This record gives sequence, C-alpha cells and structure tokens, in this order.
Amino acid sequence: MAAADRANLERFQRQIAFAPLGLEGQKRLAEARVLIVGVGGLGSWSAELLARAGVGMIRLVDDDRVDLANLHRQGLYDESDAAAARPKVQAAAARIGRISSRCRVEPIVARADHGSITALADGVDLILDGTDNFATRFVLNDYCVRADLPWIFAGVVAAEGQVLAIPPGGRPCLRCIYDQPPPPCADPSCRAAGVLGPAVAALAALQAAEAIKVLSGHGDQISPYLTKLDLWTNTLQRVDAARAAAAADCPCCKHGVYEFLEGP
Ligand SMILES: [Zn+2]
Repeated sequence: MAAADRANLERFQRQIAFAPLGLEGQKRLAEARVLIVGVGGLGSWSAELLARAGVGMIRLVDDDRVDLANLHRQGLYDESDAAAARPKVQAAAARIGRISSRCRVEPIVARADHGSITALADGVDLILDGTDNFATRFVLNDYCVRADLPWIFAGVVAAEGQVLAIPPGGRPCLRCIYDQPPPPCADPSCRAAGVLGPAVAALAALQAAEAIKVLSGHGDQISPYLTKLDLWTNTLQRVDAARAAAAADCPCCKHGVYEFLEGP
C-alpha cells in the first residue's frame, strides 16, 4: 500500500469506514478543489468541515474583516482575530492550517461579482455559497450553469435557512426557484431579523454534506429538493426542485440567458 493511502487510512479511518465513501471517495476528496465565496457564518463552518473531511484545496474569497459581532456564529474566528480586525480569509486560512496541514488554502481578499467570478473560480470543481445576498448568488448561479460547474446554495436568517445543491449540468438551478433576487427586505442580510448561531452551523453542515457527495464521486446522491430547516420550530420542509424547474421556464438553465454575468 502506498504511503499516501496509509496516511489516509490512519487519519480518516472513521470517514473511510462510512461505506458510500470508502478509500476511493477519500482519495477523490484529497484531489478536490473548492471555492467558498464568503467566509462569514456559512462559509467558515463549511470550510472547516471540508478541511477536516480531507478536501485537498479550498480557495476562500471575502473582503471583510473579523468583528466581535461575528463570533456568535462564525466558527473559525476568535477574540484575537476580532481585536486585530484581521481579514476573514487570512484568519480562516491560519485556523485551517492548524486544523489540517493536508489542506491547501488559498485566501483571497476580494469580492465576488460578475467581473471577478471567472478568475476566482478558475480550476475549481465546485463552488459553495457563503454569501449573504441574492445579488451575488445570482451571479454564482449564472456562472456555474454556464460553466457546467456544481454549486451549493444556502441562506440563513433568524432561525431558519434553506439549501439547494445545483448539480453539474445546472438544472434545476436557483433561478428555477427564484426568478429574480428577492426584494431587499426579504434578503437574508436583513439585520433586523438577527440570526441564530446553530441555524448557521446546521445549514453549513447540510451544504458541506452535499459538497462531499459531489466531490467524492456521488453527485447522483445530492438532494433533489430545496430543503428548508427551522431550528426554532424544529420543522423541515422540502420543495421539489425538478417540479419547480418544470414550471419555471427558467431563463438561465433552460434558455441559456446569463444576464447576471453582464453586471448591474
Ligand atoms: Zn433554472
């Protein structure tokens, strides 16, 4: 057995023992490259989960700095990061480096938009949504559908959130569910509603699990539903994304119109 396989067996033995993954799935994770757009609540938890799972490369993109008000829900940061107002991607890269030396982290201080997304996504196998606004998500959706790249949407506000894995091939996509970005008052960045830390962690876990399926060669196992989870009422709802797509006449994944890549 090769030395790399022995090292995988030792570190990831409890994950490799999970039958659908196995050693082959673990090897695929080690070769996988992921872009996480936004390293706030969702992005910091999912980055940690994917690094611990053995994903080989994680590119982190965010232009924000750590603030004390982030710490209740953003798992990679601590008070020293907030006191120094460190750029989130740098604080996250340092923390992930301590968690796993096997994960190559590329921290990029930038904002993902229609002009930057092509360069930011260069060479990755999957994009994970850690943003807090639908304007950026629609750019990600257009880019990924056009590039035939899988991506995992998630959003959280108050105690509830939703997640949808958009498969390679891009159908159904986010615009099958939301034709246009929801109005600002419904946008999850709406601060007045607040946000519960465990809700962020739960949605990031769902997101990371979908990513692990795709990256380990089990993309056919991703959920065909938009999953809505409320941690305050302990309720889960599922929306059949294929049925929504059939009814949507989606400009993006059905007609190939990528208007959000053209800028505002
Ligand atoms: Zn669509």
